[in-house]
Amino acid sequence: MMTAQQLREAGGVLKAIASNGVPSVKQVADAARVVAGTATRVAQGKSIHAPAQVIAARWAICSDCPLLLPSGKCDRAQGGCNCYMPAKHKLAASFCPLRKWAAV
Ligand code: SF4
Repeated sequence: MMTAQQLREAGGVLKAIASNGVPSVKQVADAARVVAGTATRVAQGKSIHAPAQVIAARWAICSDCPLLLPSGKCDRAQGGCNCYMPAKHKLAASFCPLRKWAAV
């Protein structure tokens, strides 16, 4: 069972991720996968936050990715998720829509 604080934190991150206009079906499906992954982590007693080294590794990959926009979003027009990366990187269950984080 998630605590109220964990729910608020997960909700805040998901809200930041989704605050980019009307989401596509794929975005909704991906968000559902992140929510499920987050719930699983809580059920397993794991933190919902990504460790600092994982966040840094995600940034290193995104920084070299042509889909990362100056706004910090992942470019939806090129097949990206349209998520706001500073928020997305912090949630442990997040994933790259192009699977570029596979080694992270
Ligand atoms: S999440 Fe993936 S596709 Fe989006 S900017 Fe980062 S590496 Fe590129």
